[in-house]
Amino acid sequence: MNLDLAPDPLLAVPGPSQIPPRVMRAMMRVVDHRSPHFHRLYRDVVEGLQYVFRTSGDVYPITASGTGAVEAMVLNFVKPGDVVLVPVFGSFSRRLINHLRRVGAEVVEVDYGWSSAPTYEDLKARVESMGLKRIDVFATVYNETNPGLTFRDLPKVARWIKSYGTLVLVDNVSALGGDYFEVDSWGIDVAVSSSQKCLAAPPVMSFIAVATKEAYRKAESVNHPSIYFDIRLMRRFAERFETPFTPAVNYLFAIREALGIIREVGLENWIRWHIERGRAIVNALVKAGLEPFVSNDYHRSNTVLSFKYPTAVNPEEFRKTMYRLGVSISDAMDDIKGKAFRIGNMGYLTRRDVLTLVAAIVTVAAMANRVDEVGIGIFEEVLRYWEPPQFSVDEG
Ligand code: PLP
Repeated sequence: MNLDLAPDPLLAVPGPSQIPPRVMRAMMRVVDHRSPHFHRLYRDVVEGLQYVFRTSGDVYPITASGTGAVEAMVLNFVKPGDVVLVPVFGSFSRRLINHLRRVGAEVVEVDYGWSSAPTYEDLKARVESMGLKRIDVFATVYNETNPGLTFRDLPKVARWIKSYGTLVLVDNVSALGGDYFEVDSWGIDVAVSSSQKCLAAPPVMSFIAVATKEAYRKAESVNHPSIYFDIRLMRRFAERFETPFTPAVNYLFAIREALGIIREVGLENWIRWHIERGRAIVNALVKAGLEPFVSNDYHRSNTVLSFKYPTAVNPEEFRKTMYRLGVSISDAMDDIKGKAFRIGNMGYLTRRDVLTLVAAIVTVAAMANRVDEVGIGIFEEVLRYWEPPQFSVDEG
Protein backbone atom coordinates (compact mmCIF):
# COMPACT_ATOMS: atom_id res chain seq x y z
CA MET A 1 0.00 0.00 0.00
CA ASN A 2 1.48 3.33 -1.00
CA LEU A 3 -1.12 5.82 0.31
CA ASP A 4 0.99 8.83 -0.74
CA LEU A 5 -1.91 10.68 -2.31
CA ALA A 6 -4.81 8.56 -1.17
CA PRO A 7 -7.55 10.66 0.41
CA ASP A 8 -8.14 9.90 4.07
CA PRO A 9 -10.98 7.43 4.48
CA LEU A 10 -14.25 8.69 5.91
CA LEU A 11 -14.14 8.52 9.69
CA ALA A 12 -17.24 6.62 10.73
CA VAL A 13 -15.53 5.09 13.78
CA PRO A 14 -16.46 6.06 17.35
CA GLY A 15 -13.73 8.69 17.43
CA PRO A 16 -11.78 10.33 16.02
CA SER A 17 -14.51 11.92 13.94
CA GLN A 18 -14.64 14.04 10.79
CA ILE A 19 -13.41 17.58 11.40
CA PRO A 20 -14.65 20.75 9.65
CA PRO A 21 -11.93 22.42 7.53
CA ARG A 22 -12.22 25.62 9.59
CA VAL A 23 -11.19 23.67 12.68
CA MET A 24 -8.20 22.12 10.93
CA ARG A 25 -7.04 25.52 9.72
CA ALA A 26 -7.37 27.05 13.19
CA MET A 27 -4.82 24.56 14.48
CA MET A 28 -1.93 26.12 12.57
CA ARG A 29 -1.07 28.52 15.32
CA VAL A 30 0.95 28.53 18.54
CA VAL A 31 1.31 31.27 21.17
CA ASP A 32 3.19 31.54 24.46
CA HIS A 33 1.07 29.80 27.09
CA ARG A 34 1.95 32.48 29.67
CA SER A 35 0.82 35.39 27.47
CA PRO A 36 -2.30 37.57 27.09
CA HIS A 37 -3.02 35.82 23.78
CA PHE A 38 -3.23 32.53 25.60
CA HIS A 39 -5.38 33.96 28.39
CA ARG A 40 -7.96 35.01 25.81
CA LEU A 41 -7.83 31.57 24.18
CA TYR A 42 -8.19 29.79 27.53
CA ARG A 43 -11.19 31.89 28.52
CA ASP A 44 -12.92 31.25 25.21
CA VAL A 45 -12.29 27.51 25.42
CA VAL A 46 -13.56 27.29 28.99
CA GLU A 47 -16.68 29.31 28.16
CA GLY A 48 -17.37 27.06 25.17
CA LEU A 49 -16.92 23.99 27.34
CA GLN A 50 -19.26 25.33 30.03
CA TYR A 51 -21.80 25.79 27.26
CA VAL A 52 -21.57 22.21 26.00
CA PHE A 53 -21.32 20.61 29.45
CA ARG A 54 -24.26 22.80 30.56
CA THR A 55 -22.52 23.92 33.71
CA SER A 56 -21.71 27.17 35.42
CA GLY A 57 -18.99 25.31 37.30
CA ASP A 58 -15.35 25.00 36.31
CA VAL A 59 -14.05 23.11 33.30
CA TYR A 60 -10.36 22.32 32.86
CA PRO A 61 -8.77 21.31 29.57
CA ILE A 62 -6.20 18.54 29.91
CA THR A 63 -3.59 17.66 27.31
CA ALA A 64 -4.32 13.94 27.18
CA SER A 65 -6.83 11.72 25.44
CA GLY A 66 -10.10 10.78 27.16
CA THR A 67 -8.36 8.19 29.32
CA GLY A 68 -6.32 11.00 30.89
CA ALA A 69 -9.46 12.84 31.98
CA VAL A 70 -10.98 9.63 33.36
CA GLU A 71 -7.75 9.02 35.28
CA ALA A 72 -7.74 12.61 36.58
CA MET A 73 -11.35 12.22 37.74
CA VAL A 74 -10.62 9.03 39.64
CA LEU A 75 -7.33 10.26 41.14
CA ASN A 76 -8.76 13.52 42.44
CA PHE A 77 -12.19 12.47 43.67
CA VAL A 78 -11.77 8.92 44.97
CA LYS A 79 -9.84 7.86 48.11
CA PRO A 80 -8.46 4.46 49.04
CA GLY A 81 -11.24 2.57 50.85
CA ASP A 82 -14.07 4.60 49.29
CA VAL A 83 -17.12 2.50 48.49
CA VAL A 84 -17.74 3.18 44.81
CA LEU A 85 -20.86 1.96 43.06
CA VAL A 86 -20.44 1.28 39.33
CA PRO A 87 -23.04 0.01 36.86
CA VAL A 88 -21.25 -2.18 34.32
CA PHE A 89 -22.63 -2.30 30.80
CA GLY A 90 -19.68 -2.48 28.45
CA SER A 91 -15.94 -2.09 27.97
CA PHE A 92 -15.54 1.45 29.26
CA SER A 93 -17.38 0.71 32.52
CA ARG A 94 -14.86 -2.07 32.99
CA ARG A 95 -11.98 0.31 32.27
CA LEU A 96 -13.41 2.74 34.80
CA ILE A 97 -13.34 -0.04 37.38
CA ASN A 98 -9.67 -0.69 36.61
CA HIS A 99 -8.91 2.96 37.31
CA LEU A 100 -10.90 2.82 40.55
CA ARG A 101 -9.18 -0.34 41.80
CA ARG A 102 -5.77 1.21 41.11
CA VAL A 103 -6.51 3.95 43.65
CA GLY A 104 -7.68 1.43 46.23
CA ALA A 105 -11.44 1.94 45.96
CA GLU A 106 -13.82 -0.75 47.16
CA VAL A 107 -15.79 -1.20 43.95
CA VAL A 108 -19.36 -2.48 44.07
CA GLU A 109 -20.34 -3.58 40.57
CA VAL A 110 -23.88 -3.87 39.27
CA ASP A 111 -23.65 -5.90 36.09
CA TYR A 112 -25.91 -5.32 33.08
CA GLY A 113 -24.12 -7.52 30.57
CA TRP A 114 -23.47 -6.30 27.03
CA SER A 115 -26.84 -5.34 25.62
CA SER A 116 -28.72 -3.14 28.07
CA ALA A 117 -28.00 -0.07 30.14
CA PRO A 118 -29.10 0.36 33.76
CA THR A 119 -32.59 1.62 34.50
CA TYR A 120 -33.49 3.63 37.57
CA GLU A 121 -35.95 1.08 38.96
CA ASP A 122 -33.68 -1.90 38.51
CA LEU A 123 -30.53 -0.22 39.79
CA LYS A 124 -32.30 1.19 42.84
CA ALA A 125 -33.85 -2.20 43.67
CA ARG A 126 -30.54 -4.01 43.30
CA VAL A 127 -28.60 -1.48 45.35
CA GLU A 128 -31.22 -1.40 48.11
CA SER A 129 -31.17 -5.18 48.31
CA MET A 130 -27.41 -5.06 48.95
CA GLY A 131 -27.97 -3.11 52.17
CA LEU A 132 -24.84 -0.97 51.68
CA LYS A 133 -24.08 1.17 54.72
CA ARG A 134 -22.49 3.87 52.64
CA ILE A 135 -21.82 4.78 49.03
CA ASP A 136 -19.08 7.39 48.84
CA VAL A 137 -18.99 7.68 45.08
CA PHE A 138 -21.23 6.72 42.18
CA ALA A 139 -19.02 6.43 39.09
CA THR A 140 -20.48 5.65 35.71
CA VAL A 141 -20.09 5.84 31.99
CA TYR A 142 -22.97 7.73 30.39
CA ASN A 143 -22.56 6.50 26.84
CA GLU A 144 -20.99 3.04 26.61
CA THR A 145 -18.92 3.14 23.46
CA ASN A 146 -18.73 -0.63 23.34
CA PRO A 147 -21.34 -1.86 22.51
CA GLY A 148 -23.23 1.45 22.08
CA LEU A 149 -25.60 1.95 25.02
CA THR A 150 -26.76 5.11 26.76
CA PHE A 151 -27.64 5.33 30.44
CA ARG A 152 -30.81 7.36 29.85
CA ASP A 153 -31.97 7.16 33.47
CA LEU A 154 -28.81 8.86 34.79
CA PRO A 155 -30.62 12.07 35.87
CA LYS A 156 -33.10 10.08 37.99
CA VAL A 157 -30.36 7.87 39.39
CA ALA A 158 -28.18 10.87 40.27
CA ARG A 159 -31.07 12.51 42.14
CA TRP A 160 -31.74 9.34 44.14
CA ILE A 161 -28.13 8.33 44.84
CA LYS A 162 -27.36 11.76 46.25
CA SER A 163 -29.61 10.87 49.21
CA TYR A 164 -26.66 8.70 50.32
CA GLY A 165 -24.43 11.79 50.32
CA THR A 166 -22.71 10.31 47.27
CA LEU A 167 -20.46 12.12 44.81
CA VAL A 168 -21.52 11.54 41.18
CA LEU A 169 -18.69 11.09 38.64
CA VAL A 170 -19.51 10.60 34.96
CA ASP A 171 -17.47 9.58 31.91
CA ASN A 172 -19.23 11.18 28.95
CA VAL A 173 -16.34 10.92 26.51
CA SER A 174 -18.43 9.59 23.66
CA ALA A 175 -21.69 11.58 23.71
CA LEU A 176 -20.97 15.15 24.80
CA GLY A 177 -22.46 17.33 22.06
CA GLY A 178 -24.06 14.31 20.37
CA ASP A 179 -26.88 13.71 22.83
CA TYR A 180 -28.54 15.48 25.75
CA PHE A 181 -26.31 15.87 28.78
CA GLU A 182 -26.59 18.45 31.54
CA VAL A 183 -24.07 18.60 34.34
CA ASP A 184 -25.81 21.16 36.58
CA SER A 185 -29.47 20.27 36.22
CA TRP A 186 -28.78 16.52 36.46
CA GLY A 187 -26.84 16.94 39.72
CA ILE A 188 -23.50 15.67 38.42
CA ASP A 189 -20.46 16.64 40.51
CA VAL A 190 -17.71 15.81 38.03
CA ALA A 191 -17.89 14.87 34.34
CA VAL A 192 -15.26 14.25 31.69
CA SER A 193 -15.20 14.24 27.93
CA SER A 194 -12.77 14.62 25.08
CA SER A 195 -12.19 16.48 21.86
CA GLN A 196 -12.24 13.85 19.13
CA LYS A 197 -15.83 12.64 19.21
CA CYS A 198 -19.06 14.67 18.96
CA LEU A 199 -17.32 18.05 19.30
CA ALA A 200 -15.61 17.40 15.93
CA ALA A 201 -12.14 18.49 17.01
CA PRO A 202 -8.81 16.70 16.65
CA PRO A 203 -7.77 14.08 19.19
CA VAL A 204 -5.49 14.71 22.19
CA MET A 205 -7.40 17.08 24.44
CA SER A 206 -9.81 16.06 27.17
CA PHE A 207 -11.88 18.04 29.63
CA ILE A 208 -12.91 17.73 33.24
CA ALA A 209 -15.92 19.65 34.55
CA VAL A 210 -15.98 20.17 38.32
CA ALA A 211 -19.40 21.54 39.14
CA THR A 212 -19.93 21.46 42.90
CA LYS A 213 -18.48 22.58 46.24
CA GLU A 214 -18.78 18.97 47.43
CA ALA A 215 -16.45 17.87 44.65
CA TYR A 216 -13.82 20.43 45.61
CA ARG A 217 -14.18 19.55 49.28
CA LYS A 218 -13.53 15.93 48.41
CA ALA A 219 -10.53 16.83 46.25
CA GLU A 220 -9.01 18.74 49.19
CA SER A 221 -9.10 15.56 51.26
CA VAL A 222 -7.55 13.22 48.68
CA ASN A 223 -3.82 12.59 48.49
CA HIS A 224 -2.69 11.16 45.22
CA PRO A 225 0.77 10.93 43.68
CA SER A 226 0.05 12.67 40.36
CA ILE A 227 1.36 16.14 39.66
CA TYR A 228 0.23 16.31 36.02
CA PHE A 229 -3.39 15.47 36.88
CA ASP A 230 -3.68 17.45 40.13
CA ILE A 231 -6.98 19.33 40.06
CA ARG A 232 -5.92 21.67 42.86
CA LEU A 233 -3.01 22.82 40.76
CA MET A 234 -5.24 23.19 37.69
CA ARG A 235 -7.65 25.30 39.73
CA ARG A 236 -4.89 27.63 40.95
CA PHE A 237 -3.61 28.21 37.42
CA ALA A 238 -7.13 28.61 35.99
CA GLU A 239 -7.54 31.72 38.13
CA ARG A 240 -5.09 33.40 35.77
CA PHE A 241 -6.44 31.60 32.67
CA GLU A 242 -3.51 29.23 32.38
CA THR A 243 -2.74 25.54 32.70
CA PRO A 244 -0.05 24.32 35.13
CA PHE A 245 2.06 22.81 32.33
CA THR A 246 2.57 23.42 28.62
CA PRO A 247 -0.75 22.56 26.97
CA ALA A 248 -1.27 21.57 23.31
CA VAL A 249 -1.74 25.24 22.40
CA ASN A 250 -2.39 24.59 18.72
CA TYR A 251 -5.08 22.06 19.55
CA LEU A 252 -6.74 24.54 21.89
CA PHE A 253 -7.07 26.88 18.91
CA ALA A 254 -8.80 24.07 17.04
CA ILE A 255 -11.06 23.33 19.99
CA ARG A 256 -12.01 26.98 20.31
CA GLU A 257 -13.02 26.94 16.65
CA ALA A 258 -14.97 23.68 17.05
CA LEU A 259 -16.81 25.03 20.10
CA GLY A 260 -17.44 28.27 18.21
CA ILE A 261 -19.10 26.33 15.40
CA ILE A 262 -21.34 24.53 17.92
CA ARG A 263 -22.31 27.92 19.34
CA GLU A 264 -23.09 29.27 15.88
CA VAL A 265 -25.27 26.26 15.11
CA GLY A 266 -26.64 26.18 18.65
CA LEU A 267 -26.08 23.24 20.99
CA GLU A 268 -29.72 22.12 20.67
CA ASN A 269 -29.35 22.00 16.89
CA TRP A 270 -25.95 20.31 17.04
CA ILE A 271 -27.48 17.57 19.21
CA ARG A 272 -30.61 17.39 17.05
CA TRP A 273 -28.40 16.91 13.97
CA HIS A 274 -26.71 13.93 15.66
CA ILE A 275 -30.03 12.45 16.77
CA GLU A 276 -31.77 12.77 13.42
CA ARG A 277 -28.71 11.55 11.53
CA GLY A 278 -28.40 8.54 13.86
CA ARG A 279 -32.06 7.67 13.33
CA ALA A 280 -31.63 7.94 9.57
CA ILE A 281 -28.59 5.65 9.53
CA VAL A 282 -30.34 3.06 11.70
CA ASN A 283 -33.55 3.21 9.65
CA ALA A 284 -31.65 2.91 6.39
CA LEU A 285 -29.66 -0.10 7.55
CA VAL A 286 -32.70 -1.79 9.06
CA LYS A 287 -34.52 -1.31 5.75
CA ALA A 288 -31.56 -3.04 4.12
CA GLY A 289 -32.06 -6.02 6.44
CA LEU A 290 -29.37 -5.36 9.06
CA GLU A 291 -30.09 -5.92 12.72
CA PRO A 292 -29.09 -3.46 15.47
CA PHE A 293 -26.98 -5.13 18.17
CA VAL A 294 -29.01 -3.32 20.84
CA SER A 295 -32.67 -4.19 20.34
CA ASN A 296 -34.09 -1.80 22.95
CA ASP A 297 -34.53 1.70 21.46
CA TYR A 298 -34.44 3.34 24.87
CA HIS A 299 -30.98 2.00 25.67
CA ARG A 300 -29.51 2.24 22.16
CA SER A 301 -26.83 4.89 21.82
CA ASN A 302 -27.33 7.58 19.27
CA THR A 303 -23.65 8.36 18.84
CA VAL A 304 -22.33 4.80 18.59
CA LEU A 305 -24.51 2.68 16.33
CA SER A 306 -23.76 -1.02 16.62
CA PHE A 307 -25.09 -3.67 14.27
CA LYS A 308 -24.73 -7.41 14.07
CA TYR A 309 -22.51 -8.34 11.15
CA PRO A 310 -24.65 -9.20 8.14
CA THR A 311 -25.12 -12.92 7.62
CA ALA A 312 -22.53 -14.60 5.41
CA VAL A 313 -19.88 -11.90 5.88
CA ASN A 314 -16.52 -12.46 7.45
CA PRO A 315 -16.10 -9.57 9.95
CA GLU A 316 -12.47 -8.87 8.96
CA GLU A 317 -13.23 -9.00 5.25
CA PHE A 318 -16.28 -6.81 5.74
CA ARG A 319 -14.32 -4.00 7.35
CA LYS A 320 -11.46 -4.41 4.88
CA THR A 321 -13.79 -4.02 1.92
CA MET A 322 -15.39 -1.00 3.58
CA TYR A 323 -11.92 0.51 3.86
CA ARG A 324 -11.26 -0.16 0.18
CA LEU A 325 -14.41 1.84 -0.49
CA GLY A 326 -12.95 4.62 1.63
CA VAL A 327 -14.91 4.17 4.86
CA SER A 328 -13.52 3.37 8.32
CA ILE A 329 -15.86 1.57 10.71
CA SER A 330 -14.97 -0.34 13.91
CA ASP A 331 -15.28 -3.85 15.13
CA ALA A 332 -16.82 -4.32 18.57
CA MET A 333 -14.40 -4.99 21.43
CA ASP A 334 -13.81 -7.54 24.18
CA ASP A 335 -16.57 -10.17 24.62
CA ILE A 336 -18.50 -9.00 21.56
CA LYS A 337 -15.55 -8.62 19.18
CA GLY A 338 -16.47 -10.12 15.82
CA LYS A 339 -20.15 -10.17 16.77
CA ALA A 340 -21.00 -6.55 15.98
CA PHE A 341 -19.54 -3.62 14.10
CA ARG A 342 -19.76 -0.04 15.36
CA ILE A 343 -20.42 3.20 13.50
CA GLY A 344 -19.46 6.50 15.07
CA ASN A 345 -22.29 8.95 14.43
CA MET A 346 -20.18 11.81 15.66
CA GLY A 347 -19.29 15.32 14.64
CA TYR A 348 -19.07 16.61 11.13
CA LEU A 349 -20.71 13.86 9.05
CA THR A 350 -22.56 15.39 6.14
CA ARG A 351 -25.32 13.91 3.95
CA ARG A 352 -22.69 12.99 1.37
CA ASP A 353 -20.79 11.08 4.05
CA VAL A 354 -23.91 9.33 5.31
CA LEU A 355 -24.81 8.30 1.77
CA THR A 356 -21.31 6.89 1.24
CA LEU A 357 -21.39 5.09 4.58
CA VAL A 358 -24.82 3.53 4.16
CA ALA A 359 -24.32 2.62 0.50
CA ALA A 360 -21.00 0.97 1.28
CA ILE A 361 -22.40 -1.12 4.13
CA VAL A 362 -25.44 -2.23 2.17
CA THR A 363 -23.35 -3.08 -0.85
CA VAL A 364 -20.73 -5.10 0.99
CA ALA A 365 -23.48 -7.01 2.81
CA ALA A 366 -25.31 -7.63 -0.47
CA MET A 367 -22.13 -8.87 -2.16
CA ALA A 368 -21.57 -11.43 0.58
CA ASN A 369 -25.13 -12.64 0.34
CA ARG A 370 -25.56 -12.34 -3.45
CA VAL A 371 -29.04 -10.88 -2.91
CA ASP A 372 -29.13 -8.19 -5.57
CA GLU A 373 -27.24 -9.24 -8.67
CA VAL A 374 -27.74 -5.93 -10.49
CA GLY A 375 -26.64 -3.77 -7.54
CA ILE A 376 -23.76 -6.11 -6.82
CA GLY A 377 -22.61 -5.96 -10.41
CA ILE A 378 -22.47 -2.18 -10.24
CA PHE A 379 -20.39 -2.10 -7.08
CA GLU A 380 -18.11 -4.90 -8.16
CA GLU A 381 -17.16 -2.66 -11.07
CA VAL A 382 -16.26 0.10 -8.58
CA LEU A 383 -14.10 -2.24 -6.56
CA ARG A 384 -12.45 -3.92 -9.53
CA TYR A 385 -10.82 -1.22 -11.66
CA TRP A 386 -7.18 -0.32 -11.29
CA GLU A 387 -6.06 2.89 -9.53
CA PRO A 388 -2.51 4.25 -9.33
CA PRO A 389 -1.25 3.00 -5.98
CA GLN A 390 -0.48 6.56 -4.84
CA PHE A 391 -4.18 7.37 -4.93
CA SER A 392 -5.52 4.14 -3.60
CA VAL A 393 -6.35 2.83 -0.14
CA ASP A 394 -6.54 -0.59 -1.78
CA GLU A 395 -4.43 -3.29 -0.20
CA GLY A 396 -4.43 -5.13 -3.52
N1 PLP B 1 -14.38 6.56 27.89
C1 PLP B 1 -15.20 6.32 26.87
C2 PLP B 1 -16.66 6.19 27.13
C3 PLP B 1 -14.69 6.20 25.58
O1 PLP B 1 -15.50 5.97 24.55
C4 PLP B 1 -13.30 6.32 25.37
C5 PLP B 1 -12.75 6.17 24.02
O2 PLP B 1 -13.38 5.75 23.10
C6 PLP B 1 -12.49 6.59 26.47
C7 PLP B 1 -13.05 6.69 27.71
C8 PLP B 1 -11.01 6.72 26.30
O3 PLP B 1 -10.74 7.77 25.47
P1 PLP B 1 -9.33 7.89 24.67
O4 PLP B 1 -9.28 6.75 23.71
O5 PLP B 1 -9.48 9.24 24.05
O6 PLP B 1 -8.26 7.83 25.69
